[in-house]
Amino acid sequence: MMTLLKNGKLYDPAHHKDGVVEDIYISDGRIVSKPSEKEKISQTYDLTGKVVMAGAIDMHSHIGGGKVNIARMMLPEFQETKTYSEPEAHICTPNCSHNATPNTTDTGFRYIEMGYTAAFEPAILPINARQAHLEMGDTPMIDKGGYAMLGNDDYFLRLLASRADQKAINDYVAWTLHATQAIGIKVVNPGGISAFKFNQRRLNLDENNVHYQVTPRDILKSLSTAVSQLGIAKPLHVHCNNLGVAGNFQTTLDTMGASDGVPMHLTHIQFHSYGTEGDKKFSSAAAQITEALNKNKHITADVGQILFGQTVTASGDSMMQHLNAKHASPKKTVIMDVECDAGCGVVPFRYRDQNYVNALQWAIGLELFLSVDDPWRIFLTTDHPNGAPFTSYPHLIRLLMDKSFRNEAFAKLNLDAQAMSNLTSLNREYSLYEIAIMTRAGAAKLIGLNNCGHLGAGAQADITVYTDQPNREAMFAKPNYVFKNGELVVKDGVVIKVVWGATHVTKPAFDSGVERGLSEYFEKYHTIQMDNFKISDDEITADGRGKIIAHQTS
Ligand SMILES: [Zn+2]
Repeated sequence: MMTLLKNGKLYDPAHHKDGVVEDIYISDGRIVSKPSEKEKISQTYDLTGKVVMAGAIDMHSHIGGGKVNIARMMLPEFQETKTYSEPEAHICTPNCSHNATPNTTDTGFRYIEMGYTAAFEPAILPINARQAHLEMGDTPMIDKGGYAMLGNDDYFLRLLASRADQKAINDYVAWTLHATQAIGIKVVNPGGISAFKFNQRRLNLDENNVHYQVTPRDILKSLSTAVSQLGIAKPLHVHCNNLGVAGNFQTTLDTMGASDGVPMHLTHIQFHSYGTEGDKKFSSAAAQITEALNKNKHITADVGQILFGQTVTASGDSMMQHLNAKHASPKKTVIMDVECDAGCGVVPFRYRDQNYVNALQWAIGLELFLSVDDPWRIFLTTDHPNGAPFTSYPHLIRLLMDKSFRNEAFAKLNLDAQAMSNLTSLNREYSLYEIAIMTRAGAAKLIGLNNCGHLGAGAQADITVYTDQPNREAMFAKPNYVFKNGELVVKDGVVIKVVWGATHVTKPAFDSGVERGLSEYFEKYHTIQMDNFKISDDEITADGRGKIIAHQTS
């Protein structure tokens, strides 16, 4: 059984194809090279004039785990909004109140309908990993995976405080990846979530956590080294200290130097690019941040663009969410400590285009996108649902690709914010090729997914077909076809077949001696025993919903 996608215009940056007209052959769920004459083509799709890309990959989207469910439970009023599936509702207006935390089925459907075939949950708290996988396992259509959160957990901080050697840290990090079935490691407000429990309300990069006497810089150094020495493809995923605080750009610049040149990924960098200039003591530091990003080749970043409308912010950063709770809209909030592991904070929020800070946040995100030279090192995210729901991606893509559309939107913003942004002086318009880098090839390369994000022989046949049209929002909101593992699952923007994607993990080798200390620790301090904490392969693949794809370390 072979499928032929004929005459499409391929945007496949992994193979330097920028609108090259070429055929694609699919067999057994994979893209294969052109077969010999006698092999039979069972189905042909004529894609003449159509834009063909690999399925998109969201490298940072909160789709599973405790805080997403807290948001769902806390905001039942959003769950009942039915206009959500209407394509028009993808456009965020100030009055827009669509569902920021859709249920698992809707999550899978909305992603695949936009041509996304994979999404990665960036904040799996190890103690909540089972819950996160149960939710992701209940999310149809797409591949998934997650980054396990370390760096505020008592066990790690004890290791660091006792000056444990790097090998002990590496073993613990590798053990955590196995136990949580994750593909990467993330640190949120390094040391800060822990410090919050000891009544610190802010933590700067070189400030001690009062209990452990270690600094965020120590934590970043130790974890980034572990990730690199273990050969994990995905660099340490870093949510910097001082999220959302005016003047935090200096922390972000300093953080880039905290790993001594070892690769790190700085997430939702928009929320970390704020200065203190102007009457309102809140300004854009996008220029300083992008200058540093362009210079520091070991650093990658995703933007975490905000878009106007109702959403809910859900973060592991309980310290900063405690600060943000006063802005909750509607007025309800959950801030919690989670065992010895970390914490979280869920704060519903409405971004308003006539609000000075929100309007400037919107502009800062776009300034960042448009000023970073290398599209392989910047990624398209809204930090779903924190900046906006992922369903607003087509709108965001249009903002990046269409200067006049962008400038028209800018002209409607709060006037004081307009005066503080250089956005209209940035003439760049992203090309389809660059969009394909940011949302496909670059994301796959960053996470280490060798068989995703490209259209070469051997790739998973996750393929999206669009109609080239000047309105990029309409184009990216509703692909003509989406193929998942070679099967046609979306036609004209609507799901026609339900399938289950794989879970991507990595399992670096480690010294099993690490479990001696860990099992004792679990006995003493945790609510469950070590053996119950570990998630088996069978739990992930239960009910035949997807398989595990384990990626090699280098
Ligand atoms: Zn996030």
